[in-house]
Amino acid sequence: MTLLVKKFGGTSVGTTERIKAVADKLRQGHAAGHQQVVVVSAMSGETNRLLAMADEMMPGGTDPRELDVLLSTGEQVTMALLCLALMDAGLSARSYTGGQVQILTDSSHNKARILDIDVSAIEADLKENRIVVVAGFQGVDAERNITTLGRGGSDTSAVALAAVLKADECQIYTDVDGVYTTDPRVEPRARRLDRITFEEMLEMASLGSKVLQIRAVEFAGKYNVPLRVLSSFEEGEGTLITYDDEEKNMEQAMVSGIAFSKDEAQVTVTAVADRPGTAYAILGPISELNIEVDMIVQNAASEGAADFTFTVHRNDFNRVMEFLRTNMEQLGATEVSGDDKIVKVSIVGVGMRSHAGIASRMFKALAEAGINMRLITTSEIKISVVIDEKYMELGVRALHEEFGLEAI
Ligand code: ADP
Ligand code: ASP
Ligand code: MG
Repeated sequence: MTLLVKKFGGTSVGTTERIKAVADKLRQGHAAGHQQVVVVSAMSGETNRLLAMADEMMPGGTDPRELDVLLSTGEQVTMALLCLALMDAGLSARSYTGGQVQILTDSSHNKARILDIDVSAIEADLKENRIVVVAGFQGVDAERNITTLGRGGSDTSAVALAAVLKADECQIYTDVDGVYTTDPRVEPRARRLDRITFEEMLEMASLGSKVLQIRAVEFAGKYNVPLRVLSSFEEGEGTLITYDDEEKNMEQAMVSGIAFSKDEAQVTVTAVADRPGTAYAILGPISELNIEVDMIVQNAASEGAADFTFTVHRNDFNRVMEFLRTNMEQLGATEVSGDDKIVKVSIVGVGMRSHAGIASRMFKALAEAGINMRLITTSEIKISVVIDEKYMELGVRALHEEFGLEAI
């Protein structure tokens, strides 16, 4: 018997009508003889609504534990509504919160990691021919505190459940019919990929493509979970995330996709001393503030001084600027400047390993579009550049065209 874990995102359960449509889809799966474990998100907009209310109660900062108590309610509403719709369709169904299943996580509120899942209740229900509905995005720590897994975390709940249940496939139903060469909302000519490797999907997700939460891809790769992204609204095969297979490599395009992230900000410390320990003096305290640094560039020194530039998440920009301005003299710097109107655009593809000259094609395409690159980083299967925010769409489209990614 086929066991499927199916996750439905916010838009797919955005109204009671849509929840009924999901129930109907599950009814068909049931009729086809599949065992189904369903992971649901909060109805679209709900998590944001809850976050805004929390902010109203405690402006500028919320209590992480109470925020998780609040945010977890969104998914709880959906799971119960879906069960009611399933029952109304004559099916046997039962819902569980993360705590009820026992999705055990660590205690990092708002970004918890799953440690273990107790599947005994779910397996007992499946034996009884029930459809099991589990709230996504949430778990419980060893002290029984409610935790949440970070934005987009229902993807990770689904993959983790599929891994422990040894499901035949984890299906992520969403508002697009698969993974595209880039976000189809930015480039309407983007093309759906039939397959993408875990490695590429991991890069795409970590470089800003929010179609799958990065931890979900990590998990699927690590535990070998067959993962598919497909539409809640249309029939189709969607996109299968696969291991890199030789056959595919032979016909591998150089560039498989383009990712972008608007969550970036750039900071430059001018004329810091060119001697051992300077980078550490700047970045050490920043890491102690629990701020993640992404790209780091130091230019060639002249007269014993160099400029040190790095990027951080846009939400951390003000804190970083404040820290550096306060400590500028100690660092021996003459100026601290920054810009939070920047974006990172990246090209991704395992084919880059075997093709030369991709970087120069990327730079040429951006130059021809009149876009200045501020920072560049490369790794084996990706090249990222930081550009002005106002050129983001132009840049994505120019690169999409340069690498021939559009639908034929
Ligand atoms: P859900 O609520 O179902 O989890 P998300 O909004 O998290 O849905 O993810 C789906 C969205 O991801 C799409 O609507 C699309 O705009 C965006 N997206 C970004 N990059 C891509 C990509 N490469 N392929 C497909 N969708 C993408
Ligand atoms: N509801 C949560 C969010 O909006 C989790 C999810 O949908 O995956 O981020
Ligand atoms: Mg999502």
